[in-house]
Amino acid sequence: MERIIDMIYADNAATTQIDKDAFEAMIPFLTNEYGNASQPYSFATREKKVLKDARKIIAECINADPEEIYFTSGGTESDNWAIKMGNRIRGGNVVTSEIEHHAVLNACDAIKKDGVEIKYLSVDRTGVIDIDNARNIIDKNTGLVSVMMANNEIGSIQPIKELSKMARDKGAIFHTDAVQAVGHIPIDVKDLNVDLLSASGHKFNGPKGIGFLYVKKGVNIDPYMNGGAQEKRMRAGTENVASIVAMAVALRNNIQSMEEHKLKLKKYENMILESISNSNIDFIVNGNENKIPGNISISFRNMEGEVILHRMDIMGISISTGSACDSVNTQISHVIKAINVPDDFAEGTIRISLGKYNNIDEVKLLVASLIKVVKN
Ligand code: PLP
Repeated sequence: MERIIDMIYADNAATTQIDKDAFEAMIPFLTNEYGNASQPYSFATREKKVLKDARKIIAECINADPEEIYFTSGGTESDNWAIKMGNRIRGGNVVTSEIEHHAVLNACDAIKKDGVEIKYLSVDRTGVIDIDNARNIIDKNTGLVSVMMANNEIGSIQPIKELSKMARDKGAIFHTDAVQAVGHIPIDVKDLNVDLLSASGHKFNGPKGIGFLYVKKGVNIDPYMNGGAQEKRMRAGTENVASIVAMAVALRNNIQSMEEHKLKLKKYENMILESISNSNIDFIVNGNENKIPGNISISFRNMEGEVILHRMDIMGISISTGSACDSVNTQISHVIKAINVPDDFAEGTIRISLGKYNNIDEVKLLVASLIKVVKN
C-alpha cells in the first residue's frame, strides 16, 4: 500500500496502517449501505449477510466456529469482559502474569476491589512464564487463568498450550489476551484448548475500535455490555458493520501473507541488530527467540529511551519506548522490571516494531539514524 505520509512508521505493536482491501471493504457501509443490521427490512439484509460472512472468516482464521466469535470494541473491552465475567464462572482466585497489558492488569485490580484474590505468575529473563512457578500458583481454588499469548513490549510468545492444560487440570477457565498475536502468528484455538481469547482489529491492519472475544462453546460467560439483543444477547450495541467487515478482510489478508512477511521481518531484524552490533554500542536485546515477527526491544547502556524516541521523531521516524499504550507513564515499564533488565540499561529501552508495509530502504534509514542518535 502507498505510504500516506512521508515518515518511517516503526511502531506497529501500537497500531498498524489499514490494509487497502480492508479499507475498501468498509466504504459501502460508511456511505450508501448504512442499514442497522438488527432491523428486519430488506435495507438491512446485506448488513446481516456481511456480518455473518465476517464472523465465518474470522472463525476460520483461528480454527473456531462462527458462533464462538463475539464482536467487541477492541482488545481492552474483550479483556475486561474475559476477566470481569470470566472470573464469575467458577469463582475462586484469578491467576495472571506480571507482564500483562494494563487492559488485563487493571481489570484484575477492579475485581480485586470486590474481594477476588489475584495471583501473579513470574517470568524469566526472556519474558517467558516460569512453568514450575505456574504449577505452584495455579491451584484447585483457581477459577480463571489469564496469560497473554505474546507480549506487546518485547514480543515473547508464551507456552499457552501448556498453561491452558494446567488450568483445565485444576478446573479453571483459561483466557489469553492474543491482541499482539492474532494476524501475526498461526493460532488454532482448538489445538491450544483455550476458553476465551481476545483480539483487536487495529493490531493486524484492520480499523481501530473493533475487536472480538472468542468464547469456546459451552463456556457459560455472562454478557459484559447489557442492552439490546445483538450478538445473541451477549454483547449489546448496534453492530459496527463497516469495521467488522474490514477486520475480517484484514485478518484474512494477513494470514494469507503471514509466512512471506515473517521471513521479510526476520531479515530486517537481523539487519538492524547486526548494524548496531558493528557500531560499538553497548546494548541488550530483550525477549525470547520465539517472538512476534518484527518486534525488537533493545536496551542501551546509560541512555534514556525517551530521548532516543524524541530524537528519532525529529528525523521523521516513529518508534516507542516501553509500551505505547502507556505513554503517560514515562517510568521504567512493569515488563522491563519483570525481566530484570540491569539498572544501567533499563532506562535506555526502546521498541522498534516493524510491520508488513515497512521496506528495506526504511529499515536502512531507521538503523542509520538510530546509531547516530545513540552515538551522539
Ligand atoms: N492487549 C495487548 C497485549 C495490547 O498490546 C493492547 C494494545 O496495545 C491491548 C490489549 C488493548 O487493545 P485495544 O487498543 O484494541 O483496546
